[in-house]
Amino acid sequence: MSWDDNYDDIPDDCLHEEADIDILTGRALCHVCGHAWWASDAEIEAQATHEREYAEAVEREELARRTIRENTNSNVSRTPNADEPETTEPQR
Ligand SMILES: [Zn+2]
Repeated sequence: MSWDDNYDDIPDDCLHEEADIDILTGRALCHVCGHAWWASDAEIEAQATHEREYAEAVEREELARRTIRENTNSNVSRTPNADEPETTEPQR
C-alpha cells in the first residue's frame, strides 16, 4: 500500500487530528490523510499556544534538573563535616 493509494482512499471524515501546523507559514498538513490546507487564525493560535506550553514544559524540566543539581552541590558543601571540620579535630 503506497501513500498515493492511501490518499485516495481517505474518506472525508478524517478529523486531521494529527495535523501539523507551521505557525510561521500558517500551513497545516495532516499526517493521516496527507491533506494540506491553510490553517485558520484559531488553528494557528492553538498551535502557537501548544508550542509555547511545550517549550515552557521543557524549560521547567530543564530548570528542575538544574535546580536538583545545584541543590545536590550545595548540600555537599553544607554537610556538617565540610562546614565544621573542627568537630573531628578537637579529638587530636
Ligand atoms: Zn486528515
